[in-house]
Amino acid sequence: MEAMGRVAAGELANAFCFIGAGGHHAGRDFFGGYCCFNDVVIALRQARRTGCLRRVAILDTDAHHGDGTRDLVADDPDVLHVCICGGEYTSRDGTKLDVAAPDPWAIDLSPDQAYLDLARAAFPPRAARFRPDLIVWYFGFDTHQGDYGDLGLTSAAFLGLADLMLETAAQLCGGKLLVVLGGGSRTDLATTLIPPVIARLAGIVWPDANSLDTR
Ligand SMILES: [Zn+2]
Ligand SMILES: [Zn+2]
Repeated sequence: MEAMGRVAAGELANAFCFIGAGGHHAGRDFFGGYCCFNDVVIALRQARRTGCLRRVAILDTDAHHGDGTRDLVADDPDVLHVCICGGEYTSRDGTKLDVAAPDPWAIDLSPDQAYLDLARAAFPPRAARFRPDLIVWYFGFDTHQGDYGDLGLTSAAFLGLADLMLETAAQLCGGKLLVVLGGGSRTDLATTLIPPVIARLAGIVWPDANSLDTR
């Protein structure tokens, strides 16, 4: 809540929320997948109460469908919710979308490239039309090779996504970007992947960013 409020108010350029448990499977009257409270939606409600933002565009790159978030924002036209998961869906007003992640075993491109291409096609153009006050990247790394939502991705995909989200936020909402940690179970991946993502947000050159070995 504090991070979203301070980014929305312009006190922080962006923020990475190192949440120890997930949030996107927590809905109105259900929860699961270690998500008890929907962190993003609670923060959004609070930020709106203080009047510092209204419209939020969310990209969910966790491997799984953000069913709780979708449930809570389903009737909210001021939330764009683009979820890269297993399905294909577009709401009538075009603000709620599911996009099927590339099947890493059925593509010619590298899984990283295919995923980044998909994210680039799915999110920035819709966010540009939506005109958000702030962008949220729900960052799951369970899509990494060998984690429980394995989509064949390596660390390069997450750094590429970080760059894409920074670029999109810079173009659309003065750089206001909140990154919220979602799924991912391997501490070896977390310790290797997350610091360079945070460094990207802070504009710091991370010495090992191109030589991460997290397979
Ligand atoms: Zn997940
Ligand atoms: Zn979804």
